[in-house]
Amino acid sequence: MTGTYPSRSTSRCPSDLLSLQELVDGIAVDIAAVMGRGKVADYIPALADVDADQFGMAIHTVDGQFYGTGSSGVGFSIQSISKVLSLTLAIEHHGDDLWNRVSVEPSGDPFNSLVQLEHECGVPRNPLINAGAILVADALLDAHDDPIDALLSLIEQLTGRRPSIDEEVVSSEKATGFRNEAMANLMKSFGNLKHSVADVLDVYFRQCSIVLNCEELAQVFAYLANAGRQPGSEVVVVSPLRARRINALMLTCGTYDRAGEFAFKVGLPAKSGVGGGIAATVPGKLALCAWSPALSASGNSVAATEALRLFAERSLCSVF
Ligand code: GLN
Repeated sequence: MTGTYPSRSTSRCPSDLLSLQELVDGIAVDIAAVMGRGKVADYIPALADVDADQFGMAIHTVDGQFYGTGSSGVGFSIQSISKVLSLTLAIEHHGDDLWNRVSVEPSGDPFNSLVQLEHECGVPRNPLINAGAILVADALLDAHDDPIDALLSLIEQLTGRRPSIDEEVVSSEKATGFRNEAMANLMKSFGNLKHSVADVLDVYFRQCSIVLNCEELAQVFAYLANAGRQPGSEVVVVSPLRARRINALMLTCGTYDRAGEFAFKVGLPAKSGVGGGIAATVPGKLALCAWSPALSASGNSVAATEALRLFAERSLCSVF
């Protein structure tokens, strides 16, 4: 059959029928249908007070165009979105040796589950669940004297602005992060953590407490949409192969035990955080970020997920 379906040639994604600004503005209107669903991440007390009734979205194309809508300039706690950035730095230092300490399989379990870690002898399923990111934080302590300074410098290099860390969130996570402590101790007991649990968790909690907005996150993630190079510059963040692999991990593991459903509904590599943000890429085209604080039971923002679904549906952008 010909002529009845919208075209999706590589040169015309997103749809040339709708400008990207119209597209995101339309999503900001239609997202009202799901606002009010879900609840904020109150297991981290400092995040419990965030106003759930906020939504923002931003796009950064590989040819340097920006689009934003709603609260796209409002900062939020990036939480697990930081795992992609710490992984990027760790891969650059350790190369393939990193994969001896952390696997690349989806877990099918919640982001803070301990179950597989015991069965699998302290080797986390992937670097985008908590155990995997804690392992990566340990690896970063080998790579950098001050891993947080390295992360902030990477972000500053990509956005032109050094972000802040929300110290209240850091304290809150430290006071209540019992499961993260359990994971770190379990990995330590299996000999898969080199540094002290306290030092590793300090890096992990601080990276989760970095504050960025949708516009900045879309800009930061653009290197992953551009084969590892920051658009519009000569800055190579990672090689094309590593960018491809990080995108693959985001697609298969970036939204935890909902990664299958996310691929089914949205079809883009993405990484969520319990601050309500989801950063995603359309490889070769653009990076984007949607944010709204209320989460589903899996810890993924309800409205940000829906916004990305609407984006993929209306722009015809998908990796599939
Ligand atoms: N800091 C959070 C935690 O450790 C990160 C979880 C997330 O964003 N999914 O629980």
